[in-house]
Parts: sequence; C-alpha cells; structure tokens
Amino acid sequence: MTTEPRAPARLPKLELSAGASDFIDDGRLHELLAARPPEPAEVRDIVARSLAKNCLSVEETARLLTARDPEVIEEIFAAARQLKETVYGNRIVLFAPLYIGNDCVNDCLYCAFRRSNHEQIRLTLDREQLREQVAALEQEGHKRLILVFGEHPRYDAEFIHDCVRTVYEIRVGKGEIRRVNINAAPQDVDGYRRIKEAGIGTYQVFQETYSHATYAQYHPHNTRKGDYLYRLDALDRAQEAGIDDVGIGALFGLYDWRFEVLGLVAHALHLQQKYGVGPHTISFPRVQPAQGVTLPDTWLVSDDDFKRVVATLRLAVPYTGMILTARESPDLRRELLAFGVSQIDAGTRLELGGYTRREGPQHLELEQFQLGDERSLDEVMRELIIDGYLPSFCTACYRLGRTGEHFMEFAIPGFIKRFCTPNGLTTVTEYLCDYASPETREAGLRLIEQELAAMPDDSLKRELVKRIETIRTTEKRDLYF
Ligand code: SAM
Ligand code: SF4
Repeated sequence: MTTEPRAPARLPKLELSAGASDFIDDGRLHELLAARPPEPAEVRDIVARSLAKNCLSVEETARLLTARDPEVIEEIFAAARQLKETVYGNRIVLFAPLYIGNDCVNDCLYCAFRRSNHEQIRLTLDREQLREQVAALEQEGHKRLILVFGEHPRYDAEFIHDCVRTVYEIRVGKGEIRRVNINAAPQDVDGYRRIKEAGIGTYQVFQETYSHATYAQYHPHNTRKGDYLYRLDALDRAQEAGIDDVGIGALFGLYDWRFEVLGLVAHALHLQQKYGVGPHTISFPRVQPAQGVTLPDTWLVSDDDFKRVVATLRLAVPYTGMILTARESPDLRRELLAFGVSQIDAGTRLELGGYTRREGPQHLELEQFQLGDERSLDEVMRELIIDGYLPSFCTACYRLGRTGEHFMEFAIPGFIKRFCTPNGLTTVTEYLCDYASPETREAGLRLIEQELAAMPDDSLKRELVKRIETIRTTEKRDLYF
C-alpha cells in the first residue's frame, strides 16, 4: 500500500515519565573532553576498575577518551579484549532485523524514510506479507528478530502488538521465532504497556546524538522527533510501563564520537541509578549512505576511531550487551568482535520485503540505508565458527523470566558455564541439523566436539550431551537450560 506521509498540523503535548530530567550537560561533557591526556598509570588504574567488574563513571570514561598516546590506546584495546575473553567467552548471539513499514512523519536528515524524501516508495507489510517474510527468515534458521518501524500514527502500540503476536504464531517446518525485539518510535506509558503484553524482548530507542545543538540540526523542531527531552526520556517511560529490557544507541557520524560515547555512558548510568537496571544493550551504528542523503563529513568516524568507540564502551559498561550491525563491512566486524561485541545481525536485508527477494539488485527506494555486510546467515555462521566463536540463538533467559541476563552473565560466577554455553551449543546444533550448508555443518560439528571436550565431566555435561544427541536424532527442538 502506498501513502503520502504528511506532517501533523499541530503536535499534541506529550507526557514525560515521573521526575523526567535532562541529564545531559553538554558544557560539562565538553569540559571533560578538553582536559589534558592521561598518563599511562591513570589509564591503567581506570582499566583495572573495569576489569574488576565495575562500571566506569562519565569522568573516568572521558579520561580513556582523551588518551592520545598510541601505546596507551593499545592498552585500552588489550583490556577490552581481555574483558570480553575472561568474562563473556566466545559466544556471539545472532539475529535479523525485519522492516515492517517505512511511512514516517519525521524528517531526520540522515534517513531515507524521512517524510521529505519523495523518491522513497512507502510500504507497510500487511499480515500476509509479514507471514512471508517471517517464513523466509525461519527457513534460513533465524530465531531472534528485531522489528523496525518508521514513526507514523498507523504504527501505534496496537499495531506493533499485533505484528509481534503474528510473528510468534508463524511456524514453518521446525522453524519458529522465539524472541521479538522492537526498534520503533518512543511510546507513552500506556503504549509501552500494550506492547509489553505481546511478549517482546528488548525495546530499543536510539538518541541518535546526545548533543543538543546537533540534535536540533538533524531533527526539525516541528516534527515528533524534534523534541530532545521526549526522546531522552523514552526508555524511562518504558521502565515505568514495566519494560525493564531496553536498548540505547547513538548514530555515530553526526557529532564528535567522544561526546556520543559519554552521552551513552551517562544514559546507561542514569537508567541504572533510577531503575536499578541499566540498558540491556547498547548500539553504535555509524551513519551509512542513504537515498537522497548528503551529510557533511565533519564528524564521520574513521575505522580506527570506531574501534575506540567499541573498546571504550566495553570497558565503561562491562555488563551491557553490545550490538554491531551489518552496516559495517565483514572485515571490520570480524576485528571488532574481539572487543566485546555480544550480538550481530546476519543474512540481513533492509529493503521492505527483501527476505523473499534475495536475488537481483536491491531496491534503493525501499530501504533505509545501504548495508556493509550482505553475506548470508550461513556464511556468517561459518566464519564465526572457523574463528573460534560459538554462534548462539539462545533465548532461554527471556523465556524463563531471567531478566537482566547480561548482568547475571557478568556478576554470577559460573552463569555462562551453566546456562549460556550449553544453550549456545543446543541452538547451534539445531541450526546445523536443520539449515546449515554441508561446509558449515562440518565445521560446526567439530566446534561442538571441541567445546564438549573442554568441559568438566559432570552431570551438566552428561545432560548436555544427551540433549545434543536428541536434537541430532529426533524432531525434538528448543531444549534449553
Ligand atoms: N523510526 C524509529 C526511530 O527513528 O527511532 C525507529 C526505526 S529507525 C528506522 C532505526 C534507526 O536507524 C534510527 O534510530 C537511526 O539510528 C538509524 N538510521 C537512520 N538512518 C541511518 C543511516 N543513514 N545510516 C545508519 N543508520 C541509520
Ligand atoms: Fe523516521 Fe526513524 Fe528514519 Fe527518523 S530515523 S526519518 S523517525 S524512520
């Protein structure tokens, strides 16, 4: 269906969460970033706090960001790698984004869905088209999706609720979607409550830029998204509605990357302090070429600086999941995984309806921006396995009500060994049996052998071996710990 999105004549007054505050003090963050670079000893002290499982303060994070000496920067990278290795191990969780509709009342200058882009063909998947897309994703082996929406009155809480329910109902062969996350416009408290009832995983809202001036420059004031505080408060309202699993993010390339890292850390600490639970995930997309978009290159983030973004965030918020998307190239993704990324998307198609249109050229007029990594899920799985990672489709914590799973992974000794690794192994076995190419299957089965060989011979291992065997020899699936 094609519609012409129009700006609402007058924007209704929007309600904030109780005690909402603007906790981003631009002047203070700039001051911190203007300080002299740290001595190596100071960096070592800060890094040691992080390795001892503490969150860093905004001030400490700023000290890491002001480092200039290449050797000191290398120490920061090494510490991020160490944290990833010693705390999280080798698991990488896989998901796919599914674009539901590109109607939008906003006019974000960087996005092809913005309302002033008349080249974009507007489309919203109807129920049947949604079924087709989800069926195609299940047939690739996906178990975790994030549904993505433009911002438009038609994508209200009821609509989002319906989409989530529909996705959970679709079963093709042995396939099913076990966790649906959301990236959609901020809601009011009632809206979030309704969406929560559908059984969502994470609700993501990215602030895009934490700089007030830059925010105003990219989001016209007469649009919904033009209200900085309403957006900054978005996930506080989600918390008020009982959604304690939220994802924050900044779009890197609009403003100084160092400032955005401090904004993200300030946001994470704010949620942690106010609700006792920090964000479940942090996303750090870099702005990509998009239809009809020309952005100044002043703040574009180089690959080297981007590595610092990822490593610094890993150290600053050690128990928050970190998402690296297919906006980035395969080579860079491979390198960045070692710095503590915990989730990646794979087999991604951004074009609306793209999962059933896999051959031929992509349609620019149906996608939000261009992808850097267009490999299939199978190719990404194979590379992960060969590089020694354990790909995982685990959804156990969320389904057993173990919320705050990242915190538990981090804080509870043995949690990863007891739950995450076994669930990674059972879900990867499902993938290898049901969807993998022969090469990936062979590499994956070898990985399973190696992982099992490294485990102590106890009752958990015996139970795990039994479940893997059940998956390999029967139709039984979804055997989680
Ligand atoms: N419309 C909702 C919103 O803006 O929050 C949710 C979905 S929006 C499609 C998801 C995210 O895509 C945005 O928050 C933004 O960070 C990102 N995005 C937009 N344009 C982009 C571009 N050109 N390159 C990379 N990411 C982009
Ligand atoms: Fe609309 Fe979101 Fe794109 Fe902004 S980023 S134009 S709100 S889809």
